[in-house]
Amino acid sequence: MRAVFLDRDGTLIEEAGYLERLDRLIFFPFAVDAVRQLNRAGFLIVVNTNQSGVARGIVSEEFVSIAHQHISRRLQAGGARVDAYYHCPHHPEGIVASLRTACECRKPQPGMLRRAAADLHIDLRRSFSVGDRWHDVDAGQAAGTRTVLVRTGHGASVERTRRDGPAPDVIVDNVAAAAAWILTNP
Ligand SMILES: [Mg+2]
Ligand SMILES: [Zn+2]
Repeated sequence: MRAVFLDRDGTLIEEAGYLERLDRLIFFPFAVDAVRQLNRAGFLIVVNTNQSGVARGIVSEEFVSIAHQHISRRLQAGGARVDAYYHCPHHPEGIVASLRTACECRKPQPGMLRRAAADLHIDLRRSFSVGDRWHDVDAGQAAGTRTVLVRTGHGASVERTRRDGPAPDVIVDNVAAAAAWILTNP
């Protein structure tokens, strides 16, 4: 299978810092159409999100699930679908002892993408990663996918920051433009 790995905050929904209440979860208006187009083209849609707020005691695991159910319902109403969600609850400086670790899943590490690939039989080299921060690009490249940086969320300021790592394959305005680019660069 081929997949598009979507970052959540700043890519699929508005960046809201530590998102811990549903009333702060705001969809980008174009996100539903973008996901539906990728669904129809046969891509699995895998959301992968760093949620260090869990390790920091700001966001509950239960809320992460509630937020993802909410996202799925909203997409479903528009005929779109996320196939799987992966989140990293860890942080090396977390206050929750069991989650205070330098893990393999926190982006820029590619652990979430690798786990999804194993779970869902994804061919990473024929897949794409979309996100608004360099760590999304780095995780996607480390996993072997092609990468798209979007200018929503932190993306516009991230684009202006110097970095030593390799560039994404493309930088576009938002997830809708990312979907369009993916569909024309299969
Ligand atoms: Mg993000
Ligand atoms: Zn982790």
